[in-house]
Amino acid sequence: MKAVVWDGSRELKFCPDYPDPVCRDDWVVIKVMSAGICTTDLHIMRGEFVSLPFARSHILGHEICGVITEAGKRVKTCAVGDRVVAEPMISCGHCRYCKNGQRHLCRDYQEIGFPPNNGGYAQYVTVPENCIHIIPDSMSWDEGGVFEAAACPFGMIYRHGMKDVKTVLIQGTGVAGLSFLQSVRCYGAKKVIVAARNPYRLEQARRFGADVAININKEDLHDRVMDETDGLGVDLSIDSAGAMSTVEQAVKLAAPGGQCMLYGLPDGEPDINFPVREIIMKQLSIMGGTNNQLAWDPLIELIEDGMFDLRSYVTGICTLENTAEAVKEVAAHPDRLIKTVIHPWD
Ligand SMILES: [Zn+2]
Ligand SMILES: [Zn+2]
Repeated sequence: MKAVVWDGSRELKFCPDYPDPVCRDDWVVIKVMSAGICTTDLHIMRGEFVSLPFARSHILGHEICGVITEAGKRVKTCAVGDRVVAEPMISCGHCRYCKNGQRHLCRDYQEIGFPPNNGGYAQYVTVPENCIHIIPDSMSWDEGGVFEAAACPFGMIYRHGMKDVKTVLIQGTGVAGLSFLQSVRCYGAKKVIVAARNPYRLEQARRFGADVAININKEDLHDRVMDETDGLGVDLSIDSAGAMSTVEQAVKLAAPGGQCMLYGLPDGEPDINFPVREIIMKQLSIMGGTNNQLAWDPLIELIEDGMFDLRSYVTGICTLENTAEAVKEVAAHPDRLIKTVIHPWD
């Protein structure tokens, strides 16, 4: 099959004849129709998450949509021909969390797209049956290709439930920030404030339904949020930017009794002035999160009902032959590209 491989260097290379994946008994093979390029892959290529111990070639890609072409003999819940998206997390299957339906909390896990498990930058990929979610015909391949990037932020809002939340602040307007924005909208937030530096991204946030878009290069974030919230701060303060300053602001801009949601992963080791006094005195709740498989099917339903827009996320399409270039583009223009997807059969 055709694939794009990473050999441990900082470049991806096109490979016209990579071996096809072999299907295990409780796994399936997916013919990949659309695979999202994720900025996490750039971090992987810089060696921040994993290193390749031997000179071997690995296939990245953990945002996968396609059709099942082969199912192992123990597979029961999906079949050849199903249109699907795949969760990247491979849980151990026998720890306390895996056994009580919370496999997203498993500590003994691996991931599709992270060594040693090949990912979706290829014509075929193999994943465990329990990673599969069937998608309706109304959902396009590309909506599926960017689904995972939206499912993680949505999962936090789904878990939170948005009880008693009227005002929300979201720092960061990457695909995560936009997905938080759409998620809190789905859950009935009354006023959503978005803060970022990039004017193009702030304009996008307005199009996705932000009531207030604050350019922090031009305005004082603290003053403006207090103006918008009767001097109290917001009920729910979300950081999707992952900078130390934004985490600190997230705490400072939460109203008394409010909540902070931390999602953006800081680069390197966090060196933070954590505002402990504010957390205690304002009686805040702090919540962190990443993938939650329980939120995947509810999000698929929202997309089917037209409540959550994934189509507008797709700002670029590339083939496997030019994926290496497209990844460089994504790295160079985080300001104007939302998501680029790979079409492995073009
Ligand atoms: Zn990703
Ligand atoms: Zn487990």
